[in-house]
Amino acid sequence: MVEFGIIASQDVEPSGWLANSREIMLSAGDASVPATMGTLHGCELIVLQRNSSGRPLPPHALDYRANVEALAQAGVRRVLTTAMVGSLRPSIPTGTMLILDQFIDFTRDRQSTYFSGSEFGHADMTEPYCPALRGHLIRCAEAIGLTVAPSGCYVCVSGPRFETRAEVRMFAQLGGDVVGFTNVTDCVLAREAGLCFATFAGVVNLGAGLSTHDMRSEHWRDARKVHAARFTDIVAEMARSFGAAGTDTPARCRCATAAPIET
Ligand SMILES: [Zn+2]
Repeated sequence: MVEFGIIASQDVEPSGWLANSREIMLSAGDASVPATMGTLHGCELIVLQRNSSGRPLPPHALDYRANVEALAQAGVRRVLTTAMVGSLRPSIPTGTMLILDQFIDFTRDRQSTYFSGSEFGHADMTEPYCPALRGHLIRCAEAIGLTVAPSGCYVCVSGPRFETRAEVRMFAQLGGDVVGFTNVTDCVLAREAGLCFATFAGVVNLGAGLSTHDMRSEHWRDARKVHAARFTDIVAEMARSFGAAGTDTPARCRCATAAPIET
């Protein structure tokens, strides 16, 4: 049984920290999605890089639907993702780690639903991230000595451009804490697919107008590497805790039934 699936940025290399790792091809409808399968502390998991095509794709060109569907079809019930984000507030500096609990969606021109035609459901997004998986992630972070903010509101934009100063000001006034390109689309599709979904976000730069640094400086690259290493540490702890608890870790949540088809 696959304990959990991971959708990671290209900064997280699956090789080197998974035992018995092997390249696999997952199916998602007519599409095939490359992934890595392996074990960690006795848990089986699948790592799918968001840019699984082998070369970086801009966020608006990613096949979000195929990635989530591939994990669901492989039997994954819990999805953990990493997010490298920009801060919208001076009080949230580079290096801050957050377990996201809310989002605001500003994406456009992107397929962010599985529903089409006359059969559809209205996914309940009151709590967009699985509360049970979030709680588990927070406990795992604490267990390995990582100080995380237990909540955070992610503003999702289409990209690939960064935001303007005015946009950063507006997003903060609306209640956003951090901004990024991809997380919300994954989150919505996971909810429609009935999967538990949680995100370990790390601030890798300050939003426009909050810093004099160039957005893509060496500082930015270093911060991404640091967050990727922290992410693999927290995944290892999560695998260790799942392994210790047995395969059926309790998850009291409504994720599996949150997007019922209208009849
Ligand atoms: Zn859940």
